[in-house]
Amino acid sequence: LSSKLNGVFDRLRRRGALSEADVNEALREVRVALLEADVALPVVKDLTTKVRERAVGVEVLKSVSPAQQVIKIVNDALVEALGGGEGDSGARGLDLNAPSPVPILMVGLQGSGKTTTSGKIALRLKNREKKKVLLASLDVHRPAAQLQLETLAKQVGVASLPIVAGETPLQIAARAMDLGRRELFDVVVLDTAGRLAIDEALMDEVAQVKAATRPHETLLVVDAMTGQDAVNTARAFQDKVGVSGIVMTRIDGDARGGAALSMRAVTGAPIKLLGAGEKLDALEDFHPDRIAGRILGMGDIVSLVERAAETIDQAEAEKMAARMQKGQFNLEDYANQLKQIGKMGSLSGILGMLPGIGKMKQQIEGANLDQTILKRQAAIIGSMTPKERRAPDIIKASRKRRIAAGSGATVQEVNRLLKQFDEMSAMMKRMNKLGQKGLMRGGLG
Ligand code: GDP
Ligand code: MG
Repeated sequence: LSSKLNGVFDRLRRRGALSEADVNEALREVRVALLEADVALPVVKDLTTKVRERAVGVEVLKSVSPAQQVIKIVNDALVEALGGGEGDSGARGLDLNAPSPVPILMVGLQGSGKTTTSGKIALRLKNREKKKVLLASLDVHRPAAQLQLETLAKQVGVASLPIVAGETPLQIAARAMDLGRRELFDVVVLDTAGRLAIDEALMDEVAQVKAATRPHETLLVVDAMTGQDAVNTARAFQDKVGVSGIVMTRIDGDARGGAALSMRAVTGAPIKLLGAGEKLDALEDFHPDRIAGRILGMGDIVSLVERAAETIDQAEAEKMAARMQKGQFNLEDYANQLKQIGKMGSLSGILGMLPGIGKMKQQIEGANLDQTILKRQAAIIGSMTPKERRAPDIIKASRKRRIAAGSGATVQEVNRLLKQFDEMSAMMKRMNKLGQKGLMRGGLG
């Protein structure tokens, strides 16, 4: 699969820019890749639509191939869809921020791994957070189910609710919460029964337990192998019961984990944990970027692209610094600079590369680093003609009015921007001289 994608991207690589046709061609293959990874069809459609909107018309960065750019956009959209984002690892632990005993309700289809995961969660909470955990099985449908949880509890070294024959799930839940309160447990994990497929009786039963116990976390446990069913399962549990988080199990198998994407898309609930084996310590935190890499099956390419993108930013920044030093910095550079902010090359970052600059850098940071101002300024520069950007001196009253109208700004704002730019240019010229003196003295500031 990843070689298939590579094929498309190789073809893209030889072209100059990302046209709509290029993007569509790449996305056809991406769609196949996602379906092979068991991402549900409607989710695939949403994702490819989003990527198309982003990719078409995007200026292709110099020395990054169009192919690489598409990969990066697909990958970023995947990470985002899985709950990650810039500066956010996306890892979400269990929320236990509630009065004790905190009820956690485990729901999902039979065989998805609810009981095993209950044991794993108990072990983790006991060891890492020193919590006193009570395990209770509400599965009255399979005779061995309650014993299975009791055995697990012994292995983990936590308490389990004594088994009483003939009780309903609601009665067991009530008894569990009662014991939890009386014996000062921190957490009560309620493990429910599952069915091989969704059915009304099961949903009603789970919904009733939920209403009675008001769990702080309702975790939907799904097998990573689940394919197109993932959407139906997730939707049914979300509609009838409501889930606060998702646990994906059997991530240790071959499945690429597309179910994670489907589940997340349908429920909007975060994926909180991953089950990575039958052993009780095989429970992992969820990292969107890792699962995105697994779903796309091209982690190597993505990290390659990320390195390339960093290099590009670096190269741009250095070029701009050189222009600054020659006194050639114009409004176009300034606009580019605004675009880069938030990435590697903030203005102060670039200024940091110039010699002899400490105090001016502070002034500029103070004056400029307000994001909303930066956005307004970018809009104003966007309304200028290329000629105006390169030679701001030609911008007189009527041009100012046009630029203001075009960017939704006032003429005062345009004036302020031009004044600031003037000051900056003057500063740069001074810096330039300073820098040369510094060089003559044989030191860099
Ligand atoms: P339940 O019906 O939802 O309670 O599912 P169980 O917890 O009884 O698990 C069903 C089977 O899946 C058991 O044999 C577990 O050992 C196995 N299982 C659960 N989680 C994982 C996992 O993360 N990886 C693997 N390989 N097996 C798992
Ligand atoms: Mg079970």
